Amino acid sequence: MATRHLIIGGGTAGINAMRTIREEESTRSEITLVSAERPYSRMVLPYYLDRSIAESHVFTATAKVLADWGVKTHLGRRAAALDAKASVCTLDDGAKVEYDDCLIATGSSAVRAPVPGADGPGVHSFWTLDEARGVIAAIKPGSHVVMVGAGFIAFTILNSILSLGATLTIVELAPRILPRMIDDTGAKLVEDWLTKHGVTIRTGARLARIEDTKGRKRLRFAGASDIACDVVIMATGIKTNLDWLKGAGVTINRGIVVDDRLRSSVPNVYAAGDVAEGRDLISGKGDVHAIEPTAQEHGRVVGSNMAGKDVRYRGSLIINIVEVCHLDVASFGAWDDNRADAAAGLRADRPAYRKLLFSGDRLTGAIILGRSGDIWTSNDVGMLKGLVQTGVALGRFKEHLKKHPFDVKPAFIASRTTHTLLPETILGRPSKAPGDTPVAV
Ligand SMILES: Cc1cc2nc3c(=O)[nH]c(=O)nc-3n(C[C@H](O)[C@H](O)[C@H](O)COP(=O)(O)OP(=O)(O)OC[C@H]3O[C@@H](n4cnc5c(N)ncnc54)[C@H](O)[C@@H]3O)c2cc1C
Repeated sequence: MATRHLIIGGGTAGINAMRTIREEESTRSEITLVSAERPYSRMVLPYYLDRSIAESHVFTATAKVLADWGVKTHLGRRAAALDAKASVCTLDDGAKVEYDDCLIATGSSAVRAPVPGADGPGVHSFWTLDEARGVIAAIKPGSHVVMVGAGFIAFTILNSILSLGATLTIVELAPRILPRMIDDTGAKLVEDWLTKHGVTIRTGARLARIEDTKGRKRLRFAGASDIACDVVIMATGIKTNLDWLKGAGVTINRGIVVDDRLRSSVPNVYAAGDVAEGRDLISGKGDVHAIEPTAQEHGRVVGSNMAGKDVRYRGSLIINIVEVCHLDVASFGAWDDNRADAAAGLRADRPAYRKLLFSGDRLTGAIILGRSGDIWTSNDVGMLKGLVQTGVALGRFKEHLKKHPFDVKPAFIASRTTHTLLPETILGRPSKAPGDTPVAV
């Protein structure tokens, strides 16, 4: 069994993997962590932006936790090359780390729209802690912020920007907002809601360049008027951090292709989190899910396998949940499957909207949105996620849901979804309390 584990990347996947190795191994192994940044959670950065948490609260594994786990660290260092044949990783300072097995968990980075001025001063991304610090320093009460891109990440920081007293304009190239999260009907409701809450939205907007004018920024568009502002945030997508792996002999498609043990094409090299192209729970096909739950689950499963257990991963569910100006918006699984048997319910006045997608008598995808204050919105978000996640047979309750998409509870209870969910831990054993480490189980 491997005794020298190398973990590359100290984000959600890497930290969960190390913790699981320590929980699951029978004899104490050697763990080395190489990470470009100190371990922290990117997902909590919006709460740091709006000052609801201090910067110290974003860190997931402190120096003390890593010392307690007996992890040898190379923090602030990058993996620069992998010699998979010799099982050696070279770092950006030339140091070499030998391993028996290795986990690649280097996550992703923000990508900016390829327009002139996109890298100029006053133009920010919001993906890393450093980038979050840049945005915090830039936004003042009364600032006009333009967010380029109306995807999931833009929506995770929307409330924080408004809470800082800034005015917000969102520009999006696609004809609607949240193009990879909800359908046209849902997007229209969210757009109307945000407009009512003072956010300006421009869709179908092709940004041509960003210029500096007297200390401010001017965004120029093809065929539309300019927008002048104080701060620009580019939320125009992400790319996997895999450039350094070129020539290593590890098969890469959209991400590192992994099997159901999260092993790559090289048997002693694993991958997890944003960089891994693993099994999608619904389609059964390989996909990259750059979301926190996938990074956590991958980390748990891979850690267990690296510790010598044999844990098969059943696949990850795509989960998108955001709350904007007290409107909950969520989608799960195959929410955009054109071939699915679908039913929708709309109450535009509240607003509230559901779309349910079935394959046979199983729910394989869902879109839900409604006011956060509506108790049935909050409850149904969880219940719909549970129904998609478990894939329980709905029997006659499928027809009930199709006729009454706002009445989810009877189907949830009758199909015994809780009974299926409760004993289900990702490692197939009773869940353990996280003890004194801040990493979720
Ligand atoms: C603002 C924001 C909000 C988000 N909100 C949500 C949310 O609400 N729900 C959700 O599901 N997801 C959310 N996400 C996405 C989620 O944070 C990521 O999917 C998750 O962090 C991925 O974990 P990971 O371990 O794969 O990678 P990361 O957490 O990105 O960690 C990768 C680590 O690898 C290091 N690294 C990179 N390259 C190298 C190298 N060459 N050598 C060594 N180390 C390297 C990095 O410094 C980093 O420490 C959010 C992300 C952001 C930025």
